[in-house]
Amino acid sequence: MKLTVLGRYGPFPAPGGACSGYLVESGDIALALDMGSGALSNLLRCKGDLSLSAVLLSHLHSDHMSDMLVLRYALKQLSARGRPVPFPLTVVAPDEPESEYRQLAASGVYDMVRARDNLRIRFGNMTISLHRTMHPVPTYSFFIEHEGRKLFYTGDTGYFPGLANFAQGADVLLADTCFLNSDKPSGAGIAPHLTAGEAGKLAREAGASQLICTHLWGGGDACYTAQILEQAQEMFPNVLIAEEMHEYQI
Ligand SMILES: [Zn+2]
Repeated sequence: MKLTVLGRYGPFPAPGGACSGYLVESGDIALALDMGSGALSNLLRCKGDLSLSAVLLSHLHSDHMSDMLVLRYALKQLSARGRPVPFPLTVVAPDEPESEYRQLAASGVYDMVRARDNLRIRFGNMTISLHRTMHPVPTYSFFIEHEGRKLFYTGDTGYFPGLANFAQGADVLLADTCFLNSDKPSGAGIAPHLTAGEAGKLAREAGASQLICTHLWGGGDACYTAQILEQAQEMFPNVLIAEEMHEYQI
């Protein structure tokens, strides 16, 4: 499998960057995971014909789905001009918040599949297992397997016991690492994102081979990114910071 990072920021992009978006490819199968602002532009750079098998949305926060509203226009207009784009395009997404889901479902462009816990989907020899995570709106992680290789994408989530069970044995763990260790809100309850330290701990508990830190805070500078790396490495040795338009072989 090949993973291309289309966007690595949240909840807003850094200058010149894009919000959450990832392209996973193997043979004829091409899946987009999330489609935040700027991700479509980067998708067009590496897959200009938009020949996607499906889009999987971890959740319907704008930094993960806003470009789906623009992709509607692209698919509609390219299809009308006879280009062989997928139409309708299969989209797997939670059905809440309802207003966001309705915008996607009512477009006539997307063939909507409702995400649910433990849903297993197959595209060719690629299987995707969904598991609910802890975030303010319904959110799912994706465990993607193809020919013995495994990618786990956390979506957005706080740390909770059991999260590592979903990610067991991942070759690559692509983790929401929005928070520095010191950013975690104090008090009871589960935070909306992982800290760098928690992402490292998750990779260790899951027996992952490689951790890729993503969903970096859009307001961060080079010092913030260096600290994310350092704090994740305190818990797990093999850490990379996601780079946009970079390809990772899994
Ligand atoms: Zn979110």
